[in-house]
Amino acid sequence: MASPTVKLNSGYDMPLVGFGLWKVNNDTCADQVYHAIKEGYRLFDGACDYGNEVEAGQGIARAIKDGLVQRSDLFIVSKLWNSFHDGPQVEPICRKQLADWGIDYFDLYIVHFPIALKYVDPAIRYPPGWKSASDELEFSPASIQETWTAMESLVDKGLARSIGISNFSAQLVMDLLRYARIRPATLQIEHHPYLTQTRLVDFAQKQGLTVTAYSSFGPLSFLELDVRDAVSTPPLFEHEVVRKVAQRCGRTPAQVLLRWATQRGVAVIPKSNDPQRLRQNLDVTGWDLEEGEVQAIAALDQGLRFNDPIGYGLDIPIF
Ligand code: NAD
Repeated sequence: MASPTVKLNSGYDMPLVGFGLWKVNNDTCADQVYHAIKEGYRLFDGACDYGNEVEAGQGIARAIKDGLVQRSDLFIVSKLWNSFHDGPQVEPICRKQLADWGIDYFDLYIVHFPIALKYVDPAIRYPPGWKSASDELEFSPASIQETWTAMESLVDKGLARSIGISNFSAQLVMDLLRYARIRPATLQIEHHPYLTQTRLVDFAQKQGLTVTAYSSFGPLSFLELDVRDAVSTPPLFEHEVVRKVAQRCGRTPAQVLLRWATQRGVAVIPKSNDPQRLRQNLDVTGWDLEEGEVQAIAALDQGLRFNDPIGYGLDIPIF
């Protein structure tokens, strides 16, 4: 089964359902990507920071070699890490990431966070993470405008077909839209029933940006990272409202959470190792929640954010 696509403001079609590569282990990544392609996944959401772009690229190369897909069937997403926001660093790091994947363009290249950190030479540490070469949290003076202008030149040079942003607030999106020559095609944000971000989603969609949800299952993804609120928050899969809707639709709670997003035009990028779950997660379009169910799930909102630098002990209060 394949995912339907959504037309981006860049003119390209993006699958509404994809496969996220965060926390996918290096030793299983190539196989996971290969199997996901076999199951019908076409969008892969990677990043420098995930440290597995080489392996993801190997999975893709094998799928192409075996005739499962062609490059043009795939939609490969990667992200510019915080340490590479300085204008002159954007193109070299994008080229390195393309070489790691073994491809010559990204379908979508995203500014991972609106946070500019001091440059770290990849020869010293890669991926660099949050600290500088001297192991401190050090900022770069690069403005978002400087970074975005360099992102636009990636499109001019054919290195990225579309460019986007992630973890941006409405204020930052508004500001960026004032000077953007090429508008961001997508805004990727944490989005689940405990953090619905309705105003931001509505604003972005009205401005023609496609919203992509990450961490659609809320606290689940953050248990292994021991994020405090994730451990103390009731799992969404067991929430009575979600379970009732799942029962009525004859679907799993995971599918209900993903459909709740896609029904609002929000793209999703879950991952799984399990073939049955892989299939389930792709089957989240073409059937509907009732309007009352969409509202009831949205009413679980608590403004509860799990992916927050502050929660990782970093003094960066962007949210
Ligand atoms: P996820 O969607 O991968 O879900 C978390 C966990 O749910 C997984 O570990 C998996 O074991 C489990 N799961 C998946 N399908 C299931 C099913 N059908 N039934 C039961 N359990 C299931 O969460 P995530 O990794 O936080 O987010 C998804 C993707 O979003 C990431 O891989 C990454 O690509 C992207 N992301 C981006 C940012 C950003 O800052 N832009 C931050 C976090 C994640």
